[in-house]
Amino acid sequence: MFTQPPTDDALPFARCEACDTEVLTWRDLAPDGQLILRCLDCDAPLDGGTRRGSWSASEASARGYVVEGYRDPEAATGCSGGACSTGACGSHD
Ligand SMILES: [Zn+2]
Repeated sequence: MFTQPPTDDALPFARCEACDTEVLTWRDLAPDGQLILRCLDCDAPLDGGTRRGSWSASEASARGYVVEGYRDPEAATGCSGGACSTGACGSHD
């Protein structure tokens, strides 16, 4: 059974024209003091009118982002699954 992460894990995304895809965003202060969104991948300022929303940790992970504290339920996680060599083993950080 697939388990949804808590909703407070929602990660904001918006469309980045430079990357030509939807990207995770971070907030920055413009010189005029306004909060603006920037692309996590290329740091380009993102138009406030672009399509945006939020991803769950699993959705962001599916797009190739590494989400702190999130592990793909289908990924190898135990020592026997080979996760130690990839740093994904919770027992051997
Ligand atoms: Zn970008």
